[in-house]
Amino acid sequence: MTLSGRLSAFFLASLALVLAGFSSALYFAAVSYFDRSIDDRLGSALATLAALAEDGPGGLEWEPHDRRAIPGKDSDPDQVRWIVRGDRGEVVDRSPNLGGGKLPASATSRWADASGVPWRVAAREVRSADPGWPGRRRHEMPRSRAFALTVALRLDPSEAALARLGLALGLLSAAVWGCSALAGRRISRRALAPLTRMVADTRDLGVEDPTRRLPVARTGDEVEDLGLAFNGLLDRWHEALERQRRFAGDASHQLRTPLTAVLGQVDVALRRDRPPEEYRRVIGLVRDQADHLRRIVEALLFLARAEADADATWPDLDRFDLAAWTSAQIGRRADLGRGDILSWQPPDESSGPFTVRAHPALLAQVFDNLLDNARLYGDPDAPVTLRVAREPGVVALSVEDRGRGIAPADLPRIFEPFYRGDASGRRGKPGAGLGLAVARRIALAFGGSLDAESRLGEGSRFTLRLPELPAPAGLVPGLLQATG
Ligand code: ADP
Repeated sequence: MTLSGRLSAFFLASLALVLAGFSSALYFAAVSYFDRSIDDRLGSALATLAALAEDGPGGLEWEPHDRRAIPGKDSDPDQVRWIVRGDRGEVVDRSPNLGGGKLPASATSRWADASGVPWRVAAREVRSADPGWPGRRRHEMPRSRAFALTVALRLDPSEAALARLGLALGLLSAAVWGCSALAGRRISRRALAPLTRMVADTRDLGVEDPTRRLPVARTGDEVEDLGLAFNGLLDRWHEALERQRRFAGDASHQLRTPLTAVLGQVDVALRRDRPPEEYRRVIGLVRDQADHLRRIVEALLFLARAEADADATWPDLDRFDLAAWTSAQIGRRADLGRGDILSWQPPDESSGPFTVRAHPALLAQVFDNLLDNARLYGDPDAPVTLRVAREPGVVALSVEDRGRGIAPADLPRIFEPFYRGDASGRRGKPGAGLGLAVARRIALAFGGSLDAESRLGEGSRFTLRLPELPAPAGLVPGLLQATG
């Protein structure tokens, strides 16, 4: 069933319920109104007749002075009919419009006469207040001891009116329901037409032209939102596709270049016999290129794995004090003779441990990359400033160099795999543009971030931020050198 069909069915079922409820309520209100008005008319007719029975010594007398006050002269079917009977059952008087007709002696809410006409009958007894009755003989009392008053109204006029009302309500409800069904169908079809068109357009979209977008009708409602959201998704998908294509192109280029160099060197070396030191030189070059290739492949594997495990939690993370860990890393680099000129002021003891949770070896890779870049792209004679500071909820490790800085156009792209900025400042660094991409991925994996700020011609600052944790009891900074 289509969406418009489901919506219309729900709407029409609700409307049918409302109309049925409303019509029944109206019909039963009319039934109760007719009931009450018939009872009221019979009651007031009984009261009028009772007032006409004159009580005196010797019993009741039926001889009304003003016969005009008596109801029942009009022969209309909806007029009251009545009979007054004496205590011996004899008919004392009857309404002119009753003719020779009969009425039952007792009250009944529905009584059918000989010709099947329905009636409602009400009755009342009027008794004499003369106390002479008990003990006197019947013939000594010429008047009646009691009158039985019976009044009746035909029910067929009000029943016919109710039947007409029922029919009118039924027809009106059916007409309202039918018109609503037609209008609802048109409206829902028109409202959903842009959606139907969008479905047809989506089926037409092919992968051969990823720049194609859905035409979005400016309806200002959810359908427009859906179209815009879908086009947004296509934009992001296109962007991701482009990134992937660029990545594949860059990766193959980066892998092909050292391979071509290796093959070239080997071919030249094999062209004729050479002295052993020449072979040693070529083998050394081949080794360097192979090492470079190994590093590229390792970085690519890391990025691919990190991408696939984006939501996975990393096992084996250690908790440690980032300030103490940084001091230990500086010592390690000095031992390796990496030639850093550093300005490093460990934070005060009073500021307590800067506890973070990370994989020390991977974090050391980020640290090395930032310091190597600062040394290579910054001014080699100016010290690189290292700082560990506390920010709300995070611990920040910043590496700041003075030097050429990064052009504003390059800044947002330096974390993309294979992106290498201005070639003039590389000073022959054999990188592949993967270091910062890997470093940022590592920071993200630990729930942190890696950001760069830079002023062209002045220098750059890279800041690694990691969530700060409460210090574990008995954290020993010296222990970190073993893990770092
Ligand atoms: P690589 O160093 O192998 O080129 P990276 O991913 O480490 O790759 O760096 C990407 C680019 O970012 C570099 O090519 C360089 O242009 C720029 N960059 C990185 N660090 C700095 C820095 N400290 N100062 C200036 N530019 C930098």
